[in-house]
Amino acid sequence: MKKSMKMQDAFDPYLERMVSQSETSSGRIKAKLSDSYAWCFCELCEKPTEYSAILEAPKVVKRLQRRNAKVVSRRETIYAAAQERADALILRYEQACEGKFGPYEAARMLMHYCDIPEMQGDRSVDGFREQIERKMLFAEWARHGEPVWTTRLPGQTDGDAKPSKLYCETHNPRRSDDARRAYQRDRRFILEYHDFIEKIWSQVINAGSHPTWDIESHAHVRREARRQLQALKSPTSMIGDFLTQGTMNQAEIARHLGVSRQAVSAAIRRLAKKSAE
Ligand SMILES: [Zn+2]
Repeated sequence: MKKSMKMQDAFDPYLERMVSQSETSSGRIKAKLSDSYAWCFCELCEKPTEYSAILEAPKVVKRLQRRNAKVVSRRETIYAAAQERADALILRYEQACEGKFGPYEAARMLMHYCDIPEMQGDRSVDGFREQIERKMLFAEWARHGEPVWTTRLPGQTDGDAKPSKLYCETHNPRRSDDARRAYQRDRRFILEYHDFIEKIWSQVINAGSHPTWDIESHAHVRREARRQLQALKSPTSMIGDFLTQGTMNQAEIARHLGVSRQAVSAAIRRLAKKSAE
C-alpha cells in the first residue's frame, strides 16, 4: 500500500502540549475518509470511529513556551458575544425566509453557515438556530486562541494508541484487551456484516422509510445489520457448529471466537440441555 506522510500540529490534552502528528494515510483509510457517510462509522459496528469522535470536539488552545499549551476556558463573555452574533444571523435568516433579500438569500445562508446533511431537511428558523449557535460559539472561542484537534479522547492517557480512523473505542484492537477480543470476534464476520448492510439498505429504500442523505439512516441500517448478524451468529450456535465439525477442542474454540474457555463450556452445557429437552 502506498503511504503518504504529512505532519500536523495537534493538542495533547494529557500532556498539555502541542505535538506533531504524522498523518499516515494508507489507501484503505483514504478511501474510507473520502466517503461522506462511511468515514465516521466503525468498520465493525454503528458507533463513530475514535477519529470522528475527536473531530466532533475541537478545542481552542493558547500556545505557551516550549510547545506547552493550555485550553482557553470559555468565559461568560465568550458565550455572550457568540449569542449576539448568532442572534443577528438568525434574524437575518428569518427575514431572508420572508423574501426580504430576494429569492436566493435564505438558501445562500444555509449553504454558507450550515451542515445541510446534518439538518435532515429541516430548514426552519429553529433548525438554523441550532446550527448557528454552536458554530458561533466555536468561532468566538477560536478568536481567543488557536483551534486544534486533540490527539486523544477523554480518558485516554499517555502511551495509548492514537485515535483509530477505522474503529470505534470498543473495536480498536490497540485500545484494550477487551477491545482486541471484540475486534477478533467481529472481524471474522465483516463480509457478512456488510452483506446485511446492503440487504437492509435495499429494504429501507424500497420502503422509503430512511432517506440516504440522513446520517441517522446510516446508523440505523448499521445497527439493524449488527442485530441480525448477532442473532445469526450467536456464540452458542457457532459453538454448536464447531462441535459438529469436531476439529477443535474447547480452548481452541474459545480462542477462535475471542471468548473465554468458561464461556465456551457454559454454552456447551446450554446446548446439551437444549438437545436433551
Ligand atoms: Zn465498533
